[in-house]
Amino acid sequence: HLSREDLKALIRTVPDFPKPGIQFRDITTLIGHHQGMAASVHHLAELAGAAGAEKIAGMEARGFIFGAAVAVQLGIGFVPVRKPGKLPIDTIGIDYALEYGTDRLEMDPGAIMPGQRVVMVDDLIATGGTALASAELLRQAGAVLENALFVIDLPDLGGAARLREAGIEVNTLMEFE
Ligand code: IMP
Repeated sequence: HLSREDLKALIRTVPDFPKPGIQFRDITTLIGHHQGMAASVHHLAELAGAAGAEKIAGMEARGFIFGAAVAVQLGIGFVPVRKPGKLPIDTIGIDYALEYGTDRLEMDPGAIMPGQRVVMVDDLIATGGTALASAELLRQAGAVLENALFVIDLPDLGGAARLREAGIEVNTLMEFE
């Protein structure tokens, strides 16, 4: 399997996206490389397995790519945490603050058995707002949520630290300043 350093070299950095001054870390180049994708999933699955995952939750949309593959590798189920209005059933949801305005995440209230150990997976953690909201929603649905995995951490934005303060252990495959 490719090392984490090799994986980092497969991330494409796009300046000024989605707005001036932002360096967007783009996983498209990583997932398009078959050894890069396989190694990312391998490393994440090892971490999720060690955390005792009974189910993987992934955040729309890039969390689906990694999370679903990790769930298959471990032989467990996958729960999508969705953007609003996508699920065809009565959902539970949570509103959370963005830099400007608010956003919302929704899920199937029956997706998790009470007390089931769920590990969250997403491509990247920045401020941690998305992950904290997801964790709260998954806990409302009955999950024991104590672990979150990300391909990329932007530690300067403090998200991983915020999650750890909320009692969530964070593991990531690489960091960018
Ligand atoms: P947070 O809620 O501030 O932690 O932002 C994390 C969410 O925004 C994740 O769902 C990411 O997919 C997305 N995101 C933020 N910055 C980037 C980036 O540079 N590249 C890719 N996704 C990003």
